[in-house]
Amino acid sequence: MYLFKKVADLRRHLDARKREGKTIGFVPTMGALHQGHASLVRKSAGETNCTVCSIFVNPTQFNEATDLAKYPRTPENDIALLLESGCSVLFMPEVEEVYPSGQQSPLHLDFGQLDQLMEGAHRPGHFAGMAQVVKRLLDIVQPDQLFMGQKDFQQFAIVQRMLSQLSLPVKLNMCATVREPDGLAMSSRNMLLSPEQHALAPLIFQTLSDAKANMHDQRPDDLKTVALRSLSKPGMEPEYFEIVDGRTLQPIANFEDHEMVVACTAVRFGTVRLIDNLVMKAP
Ligand code: AMP
Repeated sequence: MYLFKKVADLRRHLDARKREGKTIGFVPTMGALHQGHASLVRKSAGETNCTVCSIFVNPTQFNEATDLAKYPRTPENDIALLLESGCSVLFMPEVEEVYPSGQQSPLHLDFGQLDQLMEGAHRPGHFAGMAQVVKRLLDIVQPDQLFMGQKDFQQFAIVQRMLSQLSLPVKLNMCATVREPDGLAMSSRNMLLSPEQHALAPLIFQTLSDAKANMHDQRPDDLKTVALRSLSKPGMEPEYFEIVDGRTLQPIANFEDHEMVVACTAVRFGTVRLIDNLVMKAP
């Protein structure tokens, strides 16, 4: 595996791979890697000739300074995990390399309603920053395929919209959420939980699963009320629980009129915020 910190060095390497006719897969991350990230890398390594993983904690997508400051950084573990997952190139740039002066302005893209609800409503500026960094990294890496997790369902929908709006020739792949044996979705933020918070956190997936199990007997609004109650515990507070159309991300009134339905939630454990989702109805 090659490690590059500078755009010019990375480009020289990837240009040579392209001249050899190799296809490039790209997995953007913020590091503190776990088996969820590894699954994206393995998928890319299976479908392309050269997998590039980036580790960059993007300051422009953090709406809370404390969240950025405490975001976990585990570079040695990350490198070990990437080596065993089939990564070809690790790109680990500094902030100045990603945003040299003159390239810091956010993109002004219209995501319709996709970035207004859920994460968009609770994390002002988050999706503008996320889209900005994904676009910048795509310009740098110029991959054939992009691999992202279902864990961040709304992020995936927004990136999909951005690729189509900008007519970028990149194939976007959604990879299933990897979970702990107790159902908790793997997340870099899990390591910030205290043991007590960690013990409570599997309730998120349990609540999503209960909503799905009861979807034939109850209306979405009622399922939402039950779920919010179930997620409200001492030390645990839901920010939202929404049952939405899988394409528009708008809350739904009934299941019949929608081909794809996803339950999405964000839950706070003190200062740590976790998100998860579950497809209730697939197309
Ligand atoms: P992050 O480093 O958290 O920004 O995530 C980088 C990529 O990994 C995103 O595409 C996430 O959706 C994906 N990802 C994060 N956690 C998981 C997980 N538990 N299972 C699958 N993909 C994940």
